[in-house]
Amino acid sequence: MPPADWEPVIGLEVHAQLLTRSKIFCGCSTAFGAPANTQVCPVCLGLPGALPALNRGAVTMAIRAGKAFGCKIAERSIFARKNYFYPDLPKGYQISQFELPICDGGAIPVPQADGSIRKVGLTRIHLEEDAGKNVHAQNGSHVDLNRSGVPLIEIVGNPELRSAEDASEYLKALRLALIYLGVNDGNMEEGSFRCDANVSVRKRGATSLGTRVELKNINSFRFVRQAIEFEIERQVALLESGGKVSQETRLFDHEKGETRPMRSKEEANDYRYFPEPDLPPLVVSREWLDSVQTPKLPHQQMAELSAAGVSTADARTITADPRLVDLHGRIAAAAGKEGARRAAHVVVGEIARAVNEGALDLGAPKFRPEQIAEVFRLQDEGTLSSTAAREVISEVIQTGRAPAQVVAEKGLSQVSDEGALESVVLAVLEKNPAEVERYKGGKKNLLGFFVGQAMKELKGKGNPGVLNALFKKRLE
Ligand code: ADP
Ligand code: MG
Ligand code: ZN
Repeated sequence: MPPADWEPVIGLEVHAQLLTRSKIFCGCSTAFGAPANTQVCPVCLGLPGALPALNRGAVTMAIRAGKAFGCKIAERSIFARKNYFYPDLPKGYQISQFELPICDGGAIPVPQADGSIRKVGLTRIHLEEDAGKNVHAQNGSHVDLNRSGVPLIEIVGNPELRSAEDASEYLKALRLALIYLGVNDGNMEEGSFRCDANVSVRKRGATSLGTRVELKNINSFRFVRQAIEFEIERQVALLESGGKVSQETRLFDHEKGETRPMRSKEEANDYRYFPEPDLPPLVVSREWLDSVQTPKLPHQQMAELSAAGVSTADARTITADPRLVDLHGRIAAAAGKEGARRAAHVVVGEIARAVNEGALDLGAPKFRPEQIAEVFRLQDEGTLSSTAAREVISEVIQTGRAPAQVVAEKGLSQVSDEGALESVVLAVLEKNPAEVERYKGGKKNLLGFFVGQAMKELKGKGNPGVLNALFKKRLE
C-alpha cells in the first residue's frame, strides 16, 4: 500500500475484438486458431493497390457499445493512418480513428461491493484494425497475419480510477457488459480483450495529474492488479526519495511480478497520423443509429432479478453469465408464480453444479425450461419431496429426459394419498400411547416425532405436509 499522502491515478485503454465473422476492411474470416496465414488476402496483407472496404457489421457493434454506455455517436467520423514500423504490420500503418472517433464520452457502470453503481467516465471509443502476430519459435521468428485486419474497438477510460482494485472492478464490469452486448467474447488469454493501464501518482489534494507510465502486456485480471500495485509503489518510492517519474511505456513481467522499461518518451513513436485517403468519412444515419438495439446490461439485469425477489447472492451468480440470465428467465416464465425465486435456486444450484462438473453445456442445453417447471409442479402437488425434486432436476438437466420417467425409474414419488397415509397415522398413534397423552397435555412439538415415526414406516416416501395435517386432525 502506498503511504496515505499519495493518491494513485489510473486510466485504462481496452482493446476489444468485435465478434464479426469477417475482418474490418476485407472479407477474410476472423476465426481464431486457424493455421498461420490461411485467412489473408491482398487487403489485409497490405499488398500495393488493394483497397479497404468498411465492414458495416463492425460499425454496428461499435454503435451498440456506444449507445449502451451513453456515448455521443458521431454522425460523421474519420479513419486515419497511424504510421509505424513493425513486422506484424504489413502496410506500415494501422487504420484507426484519431481526431474524429465514432463514440465520444459515455461511462461504464461498475457495480460496487455495497450494491451501488459507480459510473466511470469514458474519453472515447474508436474503431480500428488489429495487427498480425509475431510468433517466436526455435527456428526463428515468424509472422502470422490471420489477425491482421480483425476489427477492434478501443475503449479509452478517463483517469478516474484510484486503486488497482478499482481498475480490476472496472475491467470486469466492462468485459461483462461487452459480452452482454454480444460485441466481444471477453477472452483475455486469446487476446480478444486486452488492456493497457496508465498509472500516475500525485500528492493527495493536488488538482493536476502526475506524470504517467503506460503498462503493457497485462493479460489477466490478476496481472492487472499486480502490475498496477507494483507500479504505484515504484512511483511513490521514486518520488519519496527525491526522484522523478519519467513518462514511458513499461512491460509487466508476470514471472518476476514487476514492470520494466520498454521505451521512453523520447523513443516514443511519432505516428504521423493523417486521414486515410482510401476510405470516405464514416457517416452514421439517424435510421442506422435508431435501428441498433442494446440489450440490458448486467447491472440492469441485477436490479430486475432483485425486484423479482431473487436474493442478491443468487442474482450475482446468475448475472455473471448472460446465458444463465437467459436460462433463468425462461425457467421463471415457465414456472409461473414464485418462478423467479425458484428458478434462481435451480440456476445457482443444480445448473451451476452441472456446468462446473462438465455435465451441462450452456451453449447447447439438452433440457427444456418447461421440464423444470414440471418438476416444480410435481413437488407442489406432493408427488415429490424437495430432496427428490432436486434429484430429478439434476437428472433432467444433464439428460433432458422427461421428469415423469425419471421419477418412475428412480422410485422417487412420495405417497400423498390421504387414504393410504391414514392407516399409517393410526398405527403410529396406537403404538405410542404415552406420547399421545403428553401431546394432549400440551407438548405440541411431539408432532415432529409422530411424523418422523410415520416416515420411518413409509421409508421416507410419505408426504410430510399431508402427514402433519393428518396427525393434527387425529390429535385435536
Ligand atoms: P495515448 O495513450 O494514446 O497517448 P491519452 O494521452 O489520451 O492517449 O491517454 C490515454 C489513457 O491514459 C487514458 O485512459 C487516460 O485516462 C490515461 N491517462 C492520461 N493521463 C493520465 C495520468 N496522468 N495518470 C493516469 N492515467 C492517465
Ligand atoms: Mg495509450
Ligand atoms: Zn483479408
